[in-house]
Amino acid sequence: MGYVIDAPAIPTLPVRGSADVFPVHRVYCVGRNYAAHAIEMGHDPNREPPFFFQKNPDNLLVGADFPYPDKSQDVHHEIEMVVALARGGKDIPVERALDHVYGYGVGIDMTRRDLQGEAKKMGRPWEIGKAFEHSAPCTALVPASVVGHPDQGRVWLEVNGEVRQEGDLNQLIWKVPEMIAYLSGLFELAPGDVIFSGTPSGVGPVVRGDRMRGGVDGVGEIDLKVV
Ligand code: MN
Repeated sequence: MGYVIDAPAIPTLPVRGSADVFPVHRVYCVGRNYAAHAIEMGHDPNREPPFFFQKNPDNLLVGADFPYPDKSQDVHHEIEMVVALARGGKDIPVERALDHVYGYGVGIDMTRRDLQGEAKKMGRPWEIGKAFEHSAPCTALVPASVVGHPDQGRVWLEVNGEVRQEGDLNQLIWKVPEMIAYLSGLFELAPGDVIFSGTPSGVGPVVRGDRMRGGVDGVGEIDLKVV
């Protein structure tokens, strides 16, 4: 049996210090997982818990500049730690959740904020704001065997050398084990799933020519231009 069309490539993330790559199954994202960001977006983190949405695996962008997308005049950066799963499962208990993690990376959840805003207003889904081509720049992964399971560390992003976003992993509302446990109750997780863990406050627009540099201390740094 063959494929009736050419089979699409499996999206992958590089692994720091390895010639082998991490095959990506799904990309989940946590929304409003830092209180200060929830507030800047006009929401009360005490009344509305974080939640999930998805990007497409082939939206990941590695080692390349970010092409400014069509159909938007308000594209925002959201710097986030990325969690990559080596093992899946359903109803994973919080206390076992970290056993499922392969490693960590740094990503930017690029967002067409104007299109997302229209979708919110009309009660429509977020894909056009979130899941567009190249919308998920990401670094190589660092295995947990090397970096451990970071639960504190500065999360930051600069545009043209000026600090725009700053927070700390210790401010995550849902910590990494909680997001895995919660998500595994809603979906069956699989090896190759990655989770963008949410962004600290200070999100804002970029334009062509901007340079975005950001990181999660202890995990890695990302550095790319908007073209
Ligand atoms: Mn985000």
